[in-house]
Amino acid sequence: MTESIKEIKGVGDKTAELFAKVGVRTTDDLIHYYPSGYEKLSEPEPIYKLTPGRICAVEGVLSKDASLNAFNGIKIVNAFLSDMTGRLQLSWYNFPYIKNNLKAGAHYVFRGRVSEKNGRLIMQQPKLYSPSEYKNVLAGRLCPTYPLTKGLTHVTVRKAVREYLMNKKEEKEYLPAPLLERLSMSEMEKALRDIHFPPSEEELIRARRRLVFNEFFFFMLMTKTMKRMNQSMSSAFVTRPSPKLLSFIAGLPYELTRPQLDAYKAIVKDMSSGKVMNRLIQGDVGSGKTVIAVLAMLNAAMSGFQSALMAPTEVLAAQHYDTIKGLIESSGLEVSCILMTGSMSVKEKRLSGEMIKNGEADIVVGTHALIQEKVSFSRLGLVVTDEQHRFGVRQRELLGLKGEAPHVLVMSATPIPRTLALMLYGDLDISVIDVLPRGRLPIKNCVVGPGYRKNAYSFINDEIKKGHQAYVICPQVENTEEEEGGDQSDSGIANVKDYTKELGRLFPENIRIASLYGSMKPVEKDRIMRGFKAGETDILVSTTVVEVGVDVPNATVILIENSERFGLAQLHQLRGRVGRGKAQSYCIMINCSESDKARERLDILNRSNDGFEIASEDLRLRGPGDIFGIRQSGELEFKIADIYSDSELLRSASEAAQKLLSEDGSLEKAENREIKKRLLSLMEGCVGA
Ligand code: ADP
Ligand code: MG
Repeated sequence: MTESIKEIKGVGDKTAELFAKVGVRTTDDLIHYYPSGYEKLSEPEPIYKLTPGRICAVEGVLSKDASLNAFNGIKIVNAFLSDMTGRLQLSWYNFPYIKNNLKAGAHYVFRGRVSEKNGRLIMQQPKLYSPSEYKNVLAGRLCPTYPLTKGLTHVTVRKAVREYLMNKKEEKEYLPAPLLERLSMSEMEKALRDIHFPPSEEELIRARRRLVFNEFFFFMLMTKTMKRMNQSMSSAFVTRPSPKLLSFIAGLPYELTRPQLDAYKAIVKDMSSGKVMNRLIQGDVGSGKTVIAVLAMLNAAMSGFQSALMAPTEVLAAQHYDTIKGLIESSGLEVSCILMTGSMSVKEKRLSGEMIKNGEADIVVGTHALIQEKVSFSRLGLVVTDEQHRFGVRQRELLGLKGEAPHVLVMSATPIPRTLALMLYGDLDISVIDVLPRGRLPIKNCVVGPGYRKNAYSFINDEIKKGHQAYVICPQVENTEEEEGGDQSDSGIANVKDYTKELGRLFPENIRIASLYGSMKPVEKDRIMRGFKAGETDILVSTTVVEVGVDVPNATVILIENSERFGLAQLHQLRGRVGRGKAQSYCIMINCSESDKARERLDILNRSNDGFEIASEDLRLRGPGDIFGIRQSGELEFKIADIYSDSELLRSASEAAQKLLSEDGSLEKAENREIKKRLLSLMEGCVGA
């Protein structure tokens, strides 16, 4: 029952479009668009204490009227503020209207970034406050900062959230008070308010705990409900053993590792058992999970059943398609494989759709959304989910598919301790691939400062001369405009567009450079990625869209800019793009932060190539409840919860869900009605409207 954000006062078409870019379309999306951090508005400081580079607040009197000048077409307003200790120049660019608000002799608070120009301090684009509002209301408050996109500012998001919170109707509480008390959590209504505008750090923590608990709790309820549904469900797709599979394995260009073989055997056993298979293949990046998926799908095909392989991105879907097609062709098996992506023409999609419907297509590779929305199968016996992107996706897929329940294979590179895995994947059997293919050399790592860049470039150049390729990863696509006074000045953050240009200038002309990012047209992405895979590009400058699954064994270097901005799990995933072939590979992490903490975090990656070890070290370093830390991201993507640092709440939520279901299995009791309603709407939302 959520409405468009345009219902919020002050949010028009233009703002709504910006919000849509970050995935916020409804008021419900907005309220769950949690801040990525908070900044504290500090008390005003005396002018003599200011130092360049910091964002500060100052309080004083304007010594004379502000001046307005134009310079190269830019309108500049200048003013001078004095307090007892000194005088400070204030400058605004292309903001002429501010002049009308500035009166000589009047008393103000300004807040903005201080910089040094010709030996003098100046505050640029400061924000203006009335001293009483600033000191009595704002100072000391935690002010939310949000993940932004070009054109969307913190102020816009804050305003919209505030406006919505003022008028929204109260959330019903559905958790028992003693539980809230015991786990130090706020009530839902308060949690939603406080996560955006925390009255204090303590209350922020309570709010966050509640929202984390919620995410886990409903996830657990879904998982457990699914498990009940699946358990001992007999399968309509019982496979028979096929000798052709053994010759397929014998014909592979490599020998399967022991755990790969074990996983394969377990799958064949599951699929022939008469029960529905629900299996997770867990293996670190590069351990060779794809071929296991292929074997499972061929196993289905040999018994006349169709399979669907769902990838989180089109890039990955196209890559899998090419791999599978190659393997099938060289094996001589008569199995047909087709690709379904959004970038295909309407006609192509219709043709593929028909082949799927009439059973001509044995294996269908595509993105989650497409397969589940657009396609009906004639006899879908197996669904494989690769690099599962978000939790809950699995449930979604199963619920979205009509017909008899297919076997399910989930592949994940997320290294999690077994106890966590059992909770999170409670409804699955697990195969672990803990051995890398033979002949792999461990990746060599280094963490360096920006000063090392030049060396890195010449190193990359040398690798390219040897016939190899390189990735360069930047945190952003383009320079996002920072609002004035925002604490996270993004000026120094590498972005794909500028970086590509810069490398073009720095590298010799014959080096071929391409860029890749999420918002590109799918056809373009596909073209770029295929070109890189085919060796037609030497350097690929990209955002984290290459983070999961992309497999180009000839790439031997990955340079990660602003690596301090990424979560460790994410860095590990990114690094997994190299070291996939026989050649020595390298990972260069550029650390632009001066902080010891950043250095210490990155050192974990520097020391270890083992995903599991990295995850546990990260957890140890951050300690539980580090709410301001960089969140883990990657596959285990909850909105606010972090399975590592919130593992204690995960456990509590799991227990609470278990208790609830054992007391009131179908959630019939009056006090559980609200929970049931939410669970149903979650599961319904999953089926995809
Ligand atoms: P991931 O587990 O990260 O999905 P992939 O399945 O993409 O890994 O495999 C990574 C690379 O290793 C691929 O190029 C694949 O062909 C290769 N590979 C997979 N299994 C083996 C093996 N047993 N021996 C050698 N190479 C292998
Ligand atoms: Mg993979």
